[in-house]
Amino acid sequence: MARRGMELLCYDAQKGALRYTFAMMEFVPYDLIVIGSGPGGYSAAIRAGQYGLKTALIEKQAKLGGTCLLVGCIPTKSLLQTAGVWERFVHADKEGIACENPRLEYPKVKARKDGIVDKHSNGVGFLLKRAKVERISGFATLKGNGKIEVKSDSGVQTLEAKNIILATGSEARMLPGLAPDSDRILTNIEILDLSAVPKSLIVIGAGAVGVEFASIFKRFGTDVTVIEMLPRIVPVEDEDISKELDRQFKKQKIRVETGARADNIQKTDKGVKVTLTTKDGKQEQLEAEKLLVAVGRKPNTEGIGLENTKVQLDRGFIKVDERQRTAEPGVYAIGDIVAGTPQLAHVATREGMIAVAHMAGKDAVPINKMRIPSCTYTEPGIGSVGLTEAQARAQGRKVKIGKFPFAGNSRASMLGSHDGFIKIVADEQYGEILGVHIIGPEGFELIAEAVAAMEAEATVDVMMQTIHAHPTLYEAVGEAFNAVYGLSINA
Ligand SMILES: Cc1cc2nc3c(=O)[nH]c(=O)nc-3n(C[C@H](O)[C@H](O)[C@H](O)COP(=O)(O)OP(=O)(O)OC[C@H]3O[C@@H](n4cnc5c(N)ncnc54)[C@H](O)[C@@H]3O)c2cc1C
Repeated sequence: MARRGMELLCYDAQKGALRYTFAMMEFVPYDLIVIGSGPGGYSAAIRAGQYGLKTALIEKQAKLGGTCLLVGCIPTKSLLQTAGVWERFVHADKEGIACENPRLEYPKVKARKDGIVDKHSNGVGFLLKRAKVERISGFATLKGNGKIEVKSDSGVQTLEAKNIILATGSEARMLPGLAPDSDRILTNIEILDLSAVPKSLIVIGAGAVGVEFASIFKRFGTDVTVIEMLPRIVPVEDEDISKELDRQFKKQKIRVETGARADNIQKTDKGVKVTLTTKDGKQEQLEAEKLLVAVGRKPNTEGIGLENTKVQLDRGFIKVDERQRTAEPGVYAIGDIVAGTPQLAHVATREGMIAVAHMAGKDAVPINKMRIPSCTYTEPGIGSVGLTEAQARAQGRKVKIGKFPFAGNSRASMLGSHDGFIKIVADEQYGEILGVHIIGPEGFELIAEAVAAMEAEATVDVMMQTIHAHPTLYEAVGEAFNAVYGLSINA
């Protein structure tokens, strides 16, 4: 057990007063210190508490929950939910409901979103307490040999742990020479804080973050232009999904420019000005009230003392083994800072579970990258898992494709949302499910069945025998599996 000198405030009975005295204290290091309270960090800390490890969690922000809870997954999907409700009001006549002059009171929409964030952030605090995790406020820096320095308004302290989990997350990348402000040039943080719906918005970047904000604000009535440098939007998805979202966005009158460049970004009196160079080389001046930069996320690996350790980086991301161990003994990394896994909340959480299981001597089953679902909350919604058709073919697999359109699904018609399809990528020989790609109503929920099927190593035949309740959206998933053998009924 380590011993450490400490100043203690004691009562001096002879003098009848309080005084400071120096004492050597026996000091038990933590079993685990987690740095960062995002979905990776807080879940790992709770699991460690459940396993009986003496655990502390350090967070530099006043609120718990990280990007996901404070300025990512949760606030965006809260706005998305309201955008969907609003759209139904606007088009209520389609369902035989007269709804004259509906009004959007955006400050109340924002207050609802903030309330949801606060409720869940406080919930994280409660869960940590229940798991007996000590919460420490401040900015953490690694000092090597299991030591961590924490700086906060109340001073500097040095802590020691047998194990450390780095879960410091990521922040929005900016374009060179551009800095966000709270008014016109925005990242995901500032756009979530707007007090009114902008009249017009340029979104640079058509990954998940860019297209989600485009979809949300278009539905609130904003005139939206999306500019993407790559040849297609949502470029990590199957090509058919990108094509369909592009088609749907254009149908919704979102302007989409792919293979395009945005330069000369300048603030104007009324907003922003951008030079757009389209894929065929034409230049155009675009103006909008706001500009959202959504060009990817930078890992928070600078300034946290990695130079005091053997931790190795790959283009700024931390290299780990399949148990989330870095090259520094006792130091693990999880979530958005990790090289080689997608920057998603559920990946961060799973990686946290693996790291804690490993240090607690439990079964730590590594992540299977082929079974990570990816969801994009646009309208229509996207859910995907496994290989795209192009990836499967590039691996030399002989594939069979099954596709089922939501137009053939009665529940989708009831919801008034029958655009999109489900695409199954299967191995020709044994019917192994290689990938499932959904774009359509609740696509991000429907993907769950495919993930479970793949995890259970079910084949296409098993999924064809699986009874799907009627009338449901997920019947379409069953139909898509039948479509692999040309046997779907309703299309
Ligand atoms: C707009 C948007 C929408 C998103 N939507 C989704 C979605 O729908 N689904 C999904 O799966 N993913 C989504 N993501 C991604 C998701 O938010 C991240 O993958 C997830 O938050 C990563 O979790 P993490 O634990 O690695 O880090 P983070 O959530 O980034 O948390 C890191 C924490 O560490 C703290 N920290 C950093 N450095 C220090 C330090 N030195 N000392 C103390 N504390 C420190 C930070 O303050 C922060 O609280 C979205 C992201 C954005 C931006």
